[in-house]
Parts: sequence; structure tokens; C-alpha cells
Amino acid sequence: MPIFPNGCLVLLFAGAVLCSGCTFPTYRANNDDLPSRYKITEKHFVLHSDVKLKSDDPLLLELQELRKQIAQTLELDLGERQVEVYLFKDEPSYHKFLAQNYPGLPPRRAYFVGTGKKLAVYTVWTERIREDLRHEFTHGVLHGALSFVPLWLDEGLAEYFELPVAPGVPREDYLGDLSQLLKNGWLPNLQRLEYLDASGEMQRLDYAESWAWVHWMLHNNPQTRASLLEYLHQGGKSQATPLSQRVKAFHPQPERELARWIESSGGRNAGEK
Ligand SMILES: [Zn+2]
Repeated sequence: MPIFPNGCLVLLFAGAVLCSGCTFPTYRANNDDLPSRYKITEKHFVLHSDVKLKSDDPLLLELQELRKQIAQTLELDLGERQVEVYLFKDEPSYHKFLAQNYPGLPPRRAYFVGTGKKLAVYTVWTERIREDLRHEFTHGVLHGALSFVPLWLDEGLAEYFELPVAPGVPREDYLGDLSQLLKNGWLPNLQRLEYLDASGEMQRLDYAESWAWVHWMLHNNPQTRASLLEYLHQGGKSQATPLSQRVKAFHPQPERELARWIESSGGRNAGEK
């Protein structure tokens, strides 16, 4: 049973320490504490691990497939940057590394740390390693290709690619949660998500809602899909028109549309169980 709550933490550094709400004495990892027993170098990632894996382990083959899927789905040129993946064998060694190098972080099973020079994933071997690797690797791939990804979209896409499901198949776990919330009066609010700018602010509901917007926009109709991709390709910069405004060109009330989709999909999936 993992001891950490759901979700990951994304830390981005632009050459110098830059993280609101956190103070780090250094962001250069102490190499002595990093997993170093095994190293597997592939074209697009390097795995440093204290867990023995073969280069043709399904977990690693899946990451290569995932990269292709991200490029295809998002119509992105991913470039050549490698993602460095550090896989700790157990929680004590993972905790020790984090406490010494990134003190004060909220507990998570995985972290993505991006700088101009390095795209690094730190995670630990648990029964959820498959989804954790897929999730963090997605962050790495996105940040290797794009100069900026808004936090909610970064997490929404990582949640979208986290589970190895066929394209267009929605996540039953989040649909169930969100359907329940709708019954209690909750409504989605993309503008609210757009204001979140620190990973620590993201709660489970925010991850679920971010996933829902991404899934809905990619699969609702060609216009919402094009709108999302155009925004992503522009790097989601602050001067760009927010996605919450863009989508209104096709749906005057996108929140109600999304809620309707959650209700119909959530209800259908619940009925099939
Ligand atoms: Zn994440």
C-alpha cells in the first residue's frame, strides 16, 4: 500500500531556483544519493535505477511507445531532449534523497524537476510504478518539446496519458468521482484551474478536473481538439488568449457541456460495472 497521496509534484527552474512557496538551498542533486546501480540508456531517456530491469522490460518499452503516442495525439515535434529517470528501490532511500535535496516538499510518490539543462524524474518502486512512470515521463516529454506548459494542462495531459487505455476511452475513476461531485452541486471551472500556478495547490479534484477538460476537448469535436492543440503549440504563454475563452467560440457554456459529458459518461460507465 503506497504511503503517499495520489499525484505528483512538478518543479520548474529557469536557470536559478524559482518555486513559489518553497525554499531550496540547492537544486543540484547530490549524486551520492541517487540510484546508480543500473543504467539503461535509450534514445529518449536514461534510466538510473537501483532496481534491476532489462532494457526490453515492458515498463521501458511502454515509455518508448508512450512518447510516440504523445507526439501523435498532440501533433507535436518532440525534439531530441532526453528525460533522466531516477528509480529508487525503496521508500527510505527515496525519502532520504528528497529530504536532503528538496527539503520541505509535500509527500508524493514521484516528482518531475525541469530545468533548462535537465529533465529529471524521481520516483520509487511501488505497485503503482507503471502509472507513475507514465505520468512523470509525460511531463518530461512535454517540457522537452515546449518552452511553457500551464500547470493545469501539464497535469491534465499527464493524467490523460498515465493509464494505458485506448485513445478516447475515458478514465472510470475520475468520471465516478466527478459524477458524484456534480450530484452535490459542483460545476467544472476552467478559469479557476488556469489561475493555479503552484503544483502544491493542486488537489485530487484539480487533477481529475484537468484530466476531464483535456479528455473532453481532445474527443468532443474537431473544433475543441483544434483549440486545445493550437493553444498547446503556442506554449500557453501568458499573452495568449486563455483556453477558457477560446473554447467559448464553439460552446458558449463549456462548463455545462463538460458537466453534461461527465454525467452521461459517468452514468454509463457506472451502469456497466
Ligand atoms: Zn504530474
